[in-house]
Amino acid sequence: MGKILGIIGGGQLGMMLTEAAKKMPEHISKIIVLDPVQNCSASQVGAEQIVADFKDKKAIIELAKRSDIITYEIESGDSEVLKLVEKDAEINPSPETLKIIQDKFLQKSFLLKNNIPVTEFIQICSISDLKQGLIKFGYPSILKARRDAYDGRGNFKIDSEKQIQKAFDFFNGAEMMLEKFVPFKMEVSVIAARNTNGQIKTFPLVENIHEDNILRETIAPARISKNVAEYAEEIAKTTMNVLNGAGVFGIEMFVTENNQIVINEIAPRVHNSGHHTLQSSETSQFEQHLRAILGLELGNTTLLHPTIMYNILGSKIFEGEYKSIELSEQNVFLKMYGKKISKPLRKLGHFNLVGKQGETIDYLLKKLETIKDKVSINPA
Ligand code: ATP
Ligand code: MG
Repeated sequence: MGKILGIIGGGQLGMMLTEAAKKMPEHISKIIVLDPVQNCSASQVGAEQIVADFKDKKAIIELAKRSDIITYEIESGDSEVLKLVEKDAEINPSPETLKIIQDKFLQKSFLLKNNIPVTEFIQICSISDLKQGLIKFGYPSILKARRDAYDGRGNFKIDSEKQIQKAFDFFNGAEMMLEKFVPFKMEVSVIAARNTNGQIKTFPLVENIHEDNILRETIAPARISKNVAEYAEEIAKTTMNVLNGAGVFGIEMFVTENNQIVINEIAPRVHNSGHHTLQSSETSQFEQHLRAILGLELGNTTLLHPTIMYNILGSKIFEGEYKSIELSEQNVFLKMYGKKISKPLRKLGHFNLVGKQGETIDYLLKKLETIKDKVSINPA
């Protein structure tokens, strides 16, 4: 008999987890998501839904009572409430791991303690801490909210002394940390998995291109030497070893001019930079996550074809219903997330451009230029 899977969050990640789960009926018999948005993305592909806030204690208790195993697509869940319901359902990654990761300051302190390279950082509790920190790190530095940040919305880059007060006020009393700016030559990530039996596997290193602080493109594999890629994958494995939790984790890193690697942050969940695996690998990151939390043997992570993932984002200039997107190019795989309303830079879908006939990344990048216009979002 398959297990009942509960997922906190039913957005696009919950949706693609649901789709993967439905392909494993012998292991998972039903999927229930908890999401505040009626008719959320995951519910459109066959998950039952509890409509409630991610932090709604009663709803989380209900989800645990109705599920055998719980996972999440967001890191902002209430780890204390999750700890309380561990008696009702197995939770992976563990609430303990979530608690460390969801606070960027605790996360970096934990990595540092385990000798894993991270950006230099300090905790900020007052404006004088901030001034001291900026003397230490210089300009620019990045002030970050410790929790609940996504798509760069919890970051303030401070370029000069003049911005100190503005940056401090921006966070409105939320807990903060300051990071030294890393002049990276490339942003990369590793999607890593660990199953409940301790088996660890990583997908090959990918390159991430951000615009307006939001992931725009992922290039698999990263255009970097084999040595650097292997080094980054080693760091990811070490990280998985110390983290002690089951599931897929997205590990974001910077590569510096002299090929040093520092971890920027870890997401305790499937990750946007792993969407290419839907077509580029035998096992997608979504299936891998389910295999990991169910204690199954992890799947093959070899990259079968060079692939570029391109995010389809809401137009910056309008909010509302939008015209549907269609693509008919060969080896281009479109995935829309079923969101009715576009908002500026909202993640509405993505497509994967797969180099199936031996096409190189350079070729795919040129092909991408001819497709970008076809996915721009316009009012309905
Ligand atoms: P996301 O949800 O997109 O992962 P986030 O809100 O959690 O983002 P971060 O990943 O911390 O934010 O930062 C967003 C982006 O800002 C990074 O991908 C990187 O481009 C830049 N950035 C963050 N920290 C630093 C740093 N210390 N030095 C240089 N650039 C940085
Ligand atoms: Mg990030």
